[in-house]
Amino acid sequence: MDSTSASESSSPEAASGRRRSSPESLREWLARRGEPAYRFEQIATWLYGRGAETFESMSNLPRELRAALASEFEPPGLRAVKVSRGRDGTRKLLFRLEDGRVVESVIIPDPPRLTLCISSQVGCAMGCGFCATARLGLLRNLSAGEIVAQVVGAKAHFTPEERLTNIVFMGMGEPLHNFDAVVEAIGVLTAPWGCGISSRRITVSTVGLVPQMQRLIHDTSVQLAVSLTAPTDEQRGALVPVNRKYPIEVLLAACRALPIPQRRRITFEYVLLAGVNDRAEDARRLVRLLHGIRCKVNLIPFNPFPGSGFERPSDETVEGFRRQLDEAHVHCTVRHSRGRDVAAACGQLAGEGAVPGADRSDGSDRSVGSDG
Ligand code: SAH
Repeated sequence: MDSTSASESSSPEAASGRRRSSPESLREWLARRGEPAYRFEQIATWLYGRGAETFESMSNLPRELRAALASEFEPPGLRAVKVSRGRDGTRKLLFRLEDGRVVESVIIPDPPRLTLCISSQVGCAMGCGFCATARLGLLRNLSAGEIVAQVVGAKAHFTPEERLTNIVFMGMGEPLHNFDAVVEAIGVLTAPWGCGISSRRITVSTVGLVPQMQRLIHDTSVQLAVSLTAPTDEQRGALVPVNRKYPIEVLLAACRALPIPQRRRITFEYVLLAGVNDRAEDARRLVRLLHGIRCKVNLIPFNPFPGSGFERPSDETVEGFRRQLDEAHVHCTVRHSRGRDVAAACGQLAGEGAVPGADRSDGSDRSVGSDG
């Protein structure tokens, strides 16, 4: 990107008059110029695969074409306006969108893996009581281009040794509530000319929107994670409002019926909230519920945020819960939440300034590398 786009406050497009490139706009523009068909893949591989920040750097293109592209398009990557580094190597990126709203993505190194957690909406409409993003309400959906742009933009923050291996839709928003854009984005993320990530390495996490879960498994081969979080309708209904529409029995019946390949499993996420769903009887009920489903459980000890009204259980309680599942032969892991010191962990993403002009920063994170 050129130096004019380094300003946080002004939109680069407004300054340059160029449009943000997308696969469709590129294809259409190249066809109009009568360029050979292979040009699209060459350019897309630079943009999405290698995260090229300028058209000038695309050394296998004719000089004239590079110049024409550069005067017409902005590269697709979003530019982070703030980077917060956790002590464990996690990096939370704050991206400002063209309308001034912001979303967050989180880079999570876990060698040999490098996972990027991305957002699908600004805010969220699902209203889960224990999630910071829910407090924003739904501000808007992200476009497919904006979803992919987080991945491309994040590459600028990798070290030279780092290579993206996994993508999780576990940032802000309910991905299946923005279904079409998410599926379109998955198409670009998995395309050989796109980011080239195998769909097996992409996980979509949902609060449990049943019809969309079925469509997702039909339309893509990504991994599915379902946020179950409580073993009875009474408990789940109080935490996850959508449980009233798709109660546990309906949700789990749908999960059992999903045509998931033999070697794969559904993940059930279970946020452990002290005194709410972390007791021995909750674990026993959970084991009974999941009987006969090929699955694994991912326990996520609650990550606190101001005013949540919930508490994180002690490590002993978490371990006891895990052991109960283990003893019942339910495959179970505890999510070692990353980036808690910079509010980058699950359920802590609330996009400081998600509303234009608002500064929600409480100064608790150690931010570095602001471009603004
Ligand atoms: N809307 C999707 C993605 C949400 S974020 C979904 O509901 O699955 C991914 C995970 O973080 C979900 O399992 C969610 O339940 C969990 N989560 C939300 N708030 C949390 C918090 N404060 N602490 C720990 N996990 C949380």
